[in-house]
Amino acid sequence: MTTQFSFQVSTRCSQTKARAGVFHTPHGAVETPRFMPVGTLANVKTVTPTQLQETGAQMVLANTYHLHLQPGERIVEKAGGLHQFMRWNQPILTDSGGFQVFSLSEMRQITDDGVIFRSPHDGQMINLTPERSIQIQNALGADVIMAFDECPPYPASREEVEAATQRTYRWLERCISAHQRPDQALFGIVQGGVYPDLRAAAAEALAGLDLPGYAIGGVSVGEPPELIAKIVQATTPMLPVDKPRYLMGVGTYKEMAQAIASGMDLFDCVIPTRLARHGAALVKGERWNLKNSQYREDFQPLDETCPCYTCQNFTRAYISHLVRSQEILAYTLLTIHNITELVRFTQKIREAIIGDRFTTEFAQWLS
Ligand SMILES: [Zn+2]
Repeated sequence: MTTQFSFQVSTRCSQTKARAGVFHTPHGAVETPRFMPVGTLANVKTVTPTQLQETGAQMVLANTYHLHLQPGERIVEKAGGLHQFMRWNQPILTDSGGFQVFSLSEMRQITDDGVIFRSPHDGQMINLTPERSIQIQNALGADVIMAFDECPPYPASREEVEAATQRTYRWLERCISAHQRPDQALFGIVQGGVYPDLRAAAAEALAGLDLPGYAIGGVSVGEPPELIAKIVQATTPMLPVDKPRYLMGVGTYKEMAQAIASGMDLFDCVIPTRLARHGAALVKGERWNLKNSQYREDFQPLDETCPCYTCQNFTRAYISHLVRSQEILAYTLLTIHNITELVRFTQKIREAIIGDRFTTEFAQWLS
């Protein structure tokens, strides 16, 4: 790990593999475990950086595939990099574009060299290789960048998954060679589908490369949720204990709590922001549809225990009115609350780990 990054585990849970730590980056520290909101196009939809900071979010995601298509990494680089462009002076992580290429784009052709696909913007053919993904991410300038990986669909045969996992490893070696900036930490991604032995073998191989951090990818792609816990359980014992671990695309209460119990540290998911844009709030582990008539004359805050701007100032009735009227403020207020809710959930787990109360306080999510 370069000197600009370090990860310290301060407390380990006595009952599980959960740990509380701090991940230091050139743009500040991330206390783990931690939920990270998704800012696909260099913004978390409907909120300003100041509002985002007030949610307690410490690191945000941006998306290499989408930013490459629009506005293009050259413009972001010219602006002084992502932090300056989007005015977020805390840690940022970019994914490699692999997941989007495999899940969103049609007309793709996968070879050992990389992936050729048609741009949904202008129909041009784009060739994304491990080297190209890293060049783009070096230009975008996030603190953490992700290796370009092949994400097999679910379901996929063992043979297909095995081939994709091996290719992901070969691509990772090329990503490492292509990576130019010591002020960016390159994380490797463990693939292996729903096959625990493939996951374990992939994790062991990646661990040998001594990377500054590791991710589990290719989960939450349609497999039953209970398989996520099994995949994580098979993978984490093979990963170095002194490096941060990031479970990609997972951000529900139960899946996060269980993954934390297996030793995962970082999470991201579009759920809180997407739900907000559909007029829904995450409240104490439930999803509420604010359009529902029961909220029309409910003058309590969404959650009286929540410190967010929304809960401190507005009632369910008001938010319900805004949602019914399709006022843009509805989506801003719900986004602020939903991100705060999931960040707080991971923060409370962190505090519980430090106080050795994790398994008792979060028992409802761990069974
Ligand atoms: Zn709130």
